[in-house]
Amino acid sequence: MKFNKTLEDIKTYEAGKPIELVVREFGIDPKDIIKLASNENPYGCSQKVQNAVSAIVSKMALYPDDSMTKLKNALGKRFNIGVESLIIGSGSDQVIEFLIHAKAHAGTKILMNSITFAMYEIYAKHVGAEVLRTSSQEHDLDEFYAIYQEQKPEIIFICTPNNPTGDAIDAQKLGEFLAKIDKDTLVVVDCAYMEYAAFKDASKKVDAKELVECFDNVIYLGTFSKAYGLGGMRVGFGLANPKIIEELYKLRPPFNITTLSLEAASVALDDEEFVNKCIAASFDEMKRYEEFAIEKKIDIIESFTNFVTLCLNETQNSTALSNALLQKGMIVRNLSSYGLNAIRVTIGTPEQNTRFFELTSELL
Ligand SMILES: *Cc1c(COP(=O)(O)O)cnc(C)c1O
Repeated sequence: MKFNKTLEDIKTYEAGKPIELVVREFGIDPKDIIKLASNENPYGCSQKVQNAVSAIVSKMALYPDDSMTKLKNALGKRFNIGVESLIIGSGSDQVIEFLIHAKAHAGTKILMNSITFAMYEIYAKHVGAEVLRTSSQEHDLDEFYAIYQEQKPEIIFICTPNNPTGDAIDAQKLGEFLAKIDKDTLVVVDCAYMEYAAFKDASKKVDAKELVECFDNVIYLGTFSKAYGLGGMRVGFGLANPKIIEELYKLRPPFNITTLSLEAASVALDDEEFVNKCIAASFDEMKRYEEFAIEKKIDIIESFTNFVTLCLNETQNSTALSNALLQKGMIVRNLSSYGLNAIRVTIGTPEQNTRFFELTSELL
């Protein structure tokens, strides 16, 4: 059977291995498996969220409230932005999909960083768009601008903090860059980890409201999957000028967010104290990774989020290391598919991190 030609050179997205798969493949007891591969919140989600979701499980038979009024109002309040500037997706992934489908087609040029979130390219390829990449590992906005001037891409993806490297852009520099881009070019600013960066360093904080008010052609993306501890609920959002949002709505399938997910996200936004505690704990634990890297003479990229990227030296191999860790029940992210001899490790709980240091010390 023939399928669309555009699918031919798409590599299926390789998500962090689920715990269930490691149980089946290696016969390891689920309680001995530690997953530090997908940048989830190791402390889970707020107890208030769990209580709220438990209280409405009986509502599962009915379709969700497709107006999403409760969550939209909560997000509107949080970002001090009108609900007409807001779209909610099944993960911010779905908003990325809407954006590409709304603007790109065969041959459309889409510019992104040399190493960045893999889904941008996958969605770009759905429609046969052409992916352009910078050469530097960190976002170099001068290089972005030079390529922009030469190639006139229709969409630009900026990811800050960047996944999978953890570095973040100076917010003021980002503003200066955006001011130079013409209004027909859509710029996507993916801030999946912005809660972390803003906590660590105020100069990295991209203000969603400011972005939307200053730039008609820019969309800010956020998610409940990381700091809010709701990866399993699949809720993300985009904030932009209502003219962009209106177009994205044309692509949205009905009932794309479940009743339980809408409730979970609404309540999660209210428990800022929980999220801040988790973020503080994550940066405390990050210090141990930095010390570990120094001790083992491994390069570590300065991180503004909830994971660290460990760049191994020539005598070490990221594929071998991540496979060996996997057999011991420790799931981390091998970055060899990005062309890096590196692993990305989500900062876990203190106990999980201790286990990582023990196992990795043994294996190196
Ligand atoms: C995790 C992540 C997302 C999206 O996550 P969803 O679970 O789909 O909301 C988007 N961008 C980056 C960079 C991410 O790391």
